[in-house]
Amino acid sequence: MASTSRSVRSLLTCIALGLAAGSFTAPAHAQILGIELKDAKAAKRYKKNVIEINGRKMIVGEPVAGISWDSATRTANYMNNGVNVLFVADPKNPEKVPYRFRRGERISSGSKGKVSVNGADIAYVHAHLPEQSLMGLAGEYALRIEQLENLEAQRKRCSKGTVEWFAVQERIVVHLERLENWLRRTAFPGAADDVAKDVKKERKVKLVDGVDARALRAKKSVEKIPTPALLESCAQEHGGGKWHFRTHQSQHVRITHCVELIPDEVAANLLDLAERLIEGFRVDLVDPYRSDTFPDNIPDGWFQEFFLGPNDVVMHEKMWESYYAQSWGPRKAERLQMAGTGANLGPPLRRVNYWRLTDGIDLDGLVAHGLGHTLADLHYGGGLAGMSQDWLEEAVGYYLSIEYLGRNNVTCHGHYDPEKDRYGKSKRDQEEKKKGDKPLRMGLRDFFVEHALADGPRYEKLIPKIRFELNEADLCKAWSFYEFIVKSEGEKGQRLLRATCKRARNKGTLINGLREDGTALYELADVDFYKWIEERWRNWVTKSS
Ligand SMILES: [Zn+2]
Repeated sequence: MASTSRSVRSLLTCIALGLAAGSFTAPAHAQILGIELKDAKAAKRYKKNVIEINGRKMIVGEPVAGISWDSATRTANYMNNGVNVLFVADPKNPEKVPYRFRRGERISSGSKGKVSVNGADIAYVHAHLPEQSLMGLAGEYALRIEQLENLEAQRKRCSKGTVEWFAVQERIVVHLERLENWLRRTAFPGAADDVAKDVKKERKVKLVDGVDARALRAKKSVEKIPTPALLESCAQEHGGGKWHFRTHQSQHVRITHCVELIPDEVAANLLDLAERLIEGFRVDLVDPYRSDTFPDNIPDGWFQEFFLGPNDVVMHEKMWESYYAQSWGPRKAERLQMAGTGANLGPPLRRVNYWRLTDGIDLDGLVAHGLGHTLADLHYGGGLAGMSQDWLEEAVGYYLSIEYLGRNNVTCHGHYDPEKDRYGKSKRDQEEKKKGDKPLRMGLRDFFVEHALADGPRYEKLIPKIRFELNEADLCKAWSFYEFIVKSEGEKGQRLLRATCKRARNKGTLINGLREDGTALYELADVDFYKWIEERWRNWVTKSS
């Protein structure tokens, strides 16, 4: 049954609002679009530039002429009966940027990096990688390779076959898997195939029993399970026989999906992504620090369900009540307008993210972001209920999405200030920016970091905020600060976040209590912990981006 704790209610709010699938910024910013073509004949005409991402065939590119993206309305404008020009990636080579800058303008740096698409061939355009540019992708790729090289250097320093060596080896494997995932889901399936071969090779190294067995168990656990009779009868009753459901499950995650919309293969792929995310999170952030005082809070059984149903509001309303036995509560009308909602259910205790699938919805994105929330609750808060660090749930959601998919298309905040854009920069600042070419040059990372540096709050101002208070600059800071904790702060960083969640149970003593915890953790003297950690973040972020 649904718990009624505050955090569960805030989760409901969160996911209910979660459908504002990324309305983004002023058009001066880079966008990478996904263009789906009318039919197989059209696809054939562009076959050199069509790539397949999770079953959808598309051209992925950065607009040059004829086509543009309106962030406010989330629609594409393009020449219906004319030519639309885009810079496109080389699917085999993420380092290659098809343009360079001259006086603020992108100019072609080769013959193959541009494609002209006839408007008549276009079926649908979506913002594939919001706020990202092909130059930004090349930069992200370089960072990932650098990280892998650091891990390889670390492995070299360990004597082969020792526990330390195996631990680094396992991290290399999950980072390679992450890279493969990122390449395949952004724009580089050819390069992803090469990395997949490396993963296979590294996996052959016989790993330390526990961790390797755990990863393989999770991976092999994906299976179709019998469809619950209640699910079938509810679907029949409320969908008039039009829709049918199936259930697929892996070790940690269940996907209940409408077969007419999500074929079995896609459900299995989503579970594979989910298990990769969970294993990657564990190998990076739990295993290295596991001890009596730092337990692994991720359960062995399933703890997360995604319900993926048709875009039928009446059916959506009724299935929640009849199949999950949930009530919509006092904000029913508002919640029903959103494509997603959620609750903690049990037994077994699990979180259900309940979605109706609107056009162009980012399935990978909703799995990655949703798991981010749940993993944040489990790993830092100690359980599914009771956590009150909304910024941290968002941060982990953004982090996992950006690490594995190169984008975050799910946002869970309900606050909109018409004077500011989505990431909290005032419009006047942007007008000034437009004079230079910087926004076009900026990739996703620079974009987030710049907003976090300019407008983001300090840690002690961020942590008391509840979801409705999180504005765009807060979200940028949340992601950036979390990335800093993960990539720079090791065990102390993980312990700081656990301490923050523990202290947050009492808002009255949160700030002062955590100041003491942070001071002790980092063994500081004569300096305010919050000021010190802010400086440390600033230094890291300006050095690494
Ligand atoms: Zn969220």
